Amino acid sequence: MALDQPRLSLNDGRSIPQLGFGVWQVPPAATAEIVGEALKAGYLSIDTAEGYQNERGVGDAVARSGLAREGLFITSKLRNSAHPYDDAMRAFDRTMQDLQLDALDLFLIHWPLPRQDKYVEAWKALVQLQKEGRIRSIGVSNFYPDHIERLIGETGVVPAVNQVELHPGFQQRGLRVFHQQHDIRLESWSPLGQGQALSEPVIGSIARKHGKTPAQVVIRWHLEEGLIVIPKSVTASRIRENIGVFDFRLDADDMAKIRSLDDPKGRIGWDPRTADFR
Ligand code: NAD
Repeated sequence: MALDQPRLSLNDGRSIPQLGFGVWQVPPAATAEIVGEALKAGYLSIDTAEGYQNERGVGDAVARSGLAREGLFITSKLRNSAHPYDDAMRAFDRTMQDLQLDALDLFLIHWPLPRQDKYVEAWKALVQLQKEGRIRSIGVSNFYPDHIERLIGETGVVPAVNQVELHPGFQQRGLRVFHQQHDIRLESWSPLGQGQALSEPVIGSIARKHGKTPAQVVIRWHLEEGLIVIPKSVTASRIRENIGVFDFRLDADDMAKIRSLDDPKGRIGWDPRTADFR
């Protein structure tokens, strides 16, 4: 299975597995076991963050897996309180200590926090760490186009990835145009709408048509839309179910039906424009 998984090229010459495993709200004490299940099931990419308090469990699972480091893709995110340059450098060191890795595949600024207005400083820290070879690709999360334009204007460095809330009930069509123009990959967080998308009758009927589950249909939709997708589950059978998406395709009719579920007001999480947590 692992060999068949699609990868997407990034604007820095690297590539990322299109499907990964997200670990937000995975309890720290259970993370090593649950990520171990995901790696056994064939996931090649794990998405964590300092703010999830489970980087150590991710690191333990990678170390215990016996898998070659080069075959795996590990993402983490800069915590919100660490945007000032020196704080960002220290936070990155903590992340690497917990992950027990020499280099990170992708590091994202978790939220722009525009009221704090320090995200350009944080970006300069990521640019420096990439130059030093400690991070392979750098990106952002929850950034609006004007935040990204400011990063580009002040540093000349374009993020490789922007990880944002995106699911059938909130498809971010406007944002996608900007990202295509700048060759920035979009990565869908809460790709199953935190489970809400799975009870949509349209998704259920497409699932029955293909002999697949609603979760598989929604994950397949992200893949066909050219998005990076990182569903989360703590249940071994669902972890395996969610990677069973490489043996079928959605047709034009399925895609049109799912497109009709889009609601520009369908956001479940915080609006990055106003989110101001530390
Ligand atoms: P998700 O959309 O992946 O939904 C997860 C939930 O869906 C599970 O808790 C479970 O209730 C249900 N589910 C999963 N698989 C299922 C299946 N096969 N059948 C039935 N139900 C199933 O939600 P998420 O965890 O919010 O998002 C995924 C990942 O995105 C996170 O773990 C994290 O890595 C990332 N994320 C990032 C940010 C950010 O600010 N960058 C914010 C939220 C999430």
